[in-house]
Amino acid sequence: MGALEIRGLRKQFGGVAALAGVDLTIVEGEILGIVGPNGSGKTTLFNVITGVHKPTAGTVTWRGRDMTGTPAHAVSHAGIAHTFQQAMAFPGLSVLENVQIATEHCRTDGERPFPWPTPDDLIGFVGLQALRHEIAGVLPFGNLRLLGIALALATRPSLLLLDEPAAGLNDKETTTLVELVQQLPGHGISVCVIDHDMSLMQRLCRRLVVLDFGSKIADGPTAEVLADPKVLEVYLGG
Ligand code: ADP
Repeated sequence: MGALEIRGLRKQFGGVAALAGVDLTIVEGEILGIVGPNGSGKTTLFNVITGVHKPTAGTVTWRGRDMTGTPAHAVSHAGIAHTFQQAMAFPGLSVLENVQIATEHCRTDGERPFPWPTPDDLIGFVGLQALRHEIAGVLPFGNLRLLGIALALATRPSLLLLDEPAAGLNDKETTTLVELVQQLPGHGISVCVIDHDMSLMQRLCRRLVVLDFGSKIADGPTAEVLADPKVLEVYLGG
């Protein structure tokens, strides 16, 4: 059984089935990629997992526990964190102060050792140690993204959901991000990332899931999925 098991997940917005019955497993310790054209349901999937939206039908099971329709704070408390495209830092506070606040509000059920016992350890992990007294609001975009990851990690997740983590980053920043994310499974954190940057996904993910019009059309090893005629058709508009 996977860490996160999604079965028959459906989310209807009026006449639109943003998710039209999706089955998906996130395996413990993997970095899973979810791709698909605009409007295919990727963000809705994250929003249902994280409790922003209640599904119309289907189930979300996290480590054997039914989490379907669980509110966002309880999902976070259960060990599922997510980053936003816009970093959610307090702009008037320093990097260190932001991470301290996030750490103080973390879940407390600590069932496993945390790899970064202090805020400074976490700031070091994301490579912002030299900037820890900088005000978050003046950080360059790429560093703000790294701070966003630190804030998500401060909640002590076992699963981290990343929403277009490399959007707006330059090549060097993207490489830093990839190297960072690749270390997470080694720290006991599974990762699920949505993005439409295929080269990023090829670097980051061994397994890819493709959504199209709210349905899963492919699921397997990245290279195989990217060579799948169904997937090529979606991307080439064939
Ligand atoms: P993606 O992230 O793959 O671009 P989304 O999950 O954002 O796709 O959207 C899937 C579909 O659901 C789209 O047709 C979108 O217009 C619709 N949708 C998403 N969120 C809402 C909402 N809050 N209200 C109405 N329709 C929505």
